[in-house]
Amino acid sequence: PTDLNSLADEYLRLSYHGMRAKDKSFNADFETDFDTDLPKVSVVPQDLGRVLLNLINNAFQALSNAELRMRNEGFKPLVTVSTKSLGDKIEISIKDNGPGIPEAIKDKIFQPFFTTKPTGQGTGLGLSLSYDIVKAHGGEIRVASKEGEGTVFTLVLPV
Ligand code: ADP
Ligand code: MG
Repeated sequence: PTDLNSLADEYLRLSYHGMRAKDKSFNADFETDFDTDLPKVSVVPQDLGRVLLNLINNAFQALSNAELRMRNEGFKPLVTVSTKSLGDKIEISIKDNGPGIPEAIKDKIFQPFFTTKPTGQGTGLGLSLSYDIVKAHGGEIRVASKEGEGTVFTLVLPV
């Protein structure tokens, strides 16, 4: 039984500080909206942690390119991680206000080795691995994205 609020919080901070350490001009922020009544969930914490880290890294990476930053003066790059209890299930979502995922590649992103990142920056394995881990836990992973507005990945896991 794992407290996914603290697991998500831990990986959010880890990812954020990692991004800041690598890129001095990184200016994205994060916020959390955790359900304080979230039940503990039966998971392999290292595996679920890996899924969270992949999704959170992707969200920050989507907010880290210079063009996006220059899109407009008032733009505030933000990652929001939230949790919600749904009775016998829980939901975790990782949202960013980045460029979104183009319609043409939406059905490819979960394929192993599919990446749009420059060589050396992306292996294309994060989402494929995350999908397998979530399935092995009897859960689901969904994506909603709108170009120019952002992306939300949602995990649903049985308690
Ligand atoms: P990688 O991060 O190594 O490229 P992933 O499997 O994690 O591999 O992601 C595959 C692709 O899905 C990314 O290269 C990117 O094109 C797209 N993607 C994933 N998350 C996001 C996001 N939050 N915003 C925009 N595109 C995303
Ligand atoms: Mg990735």
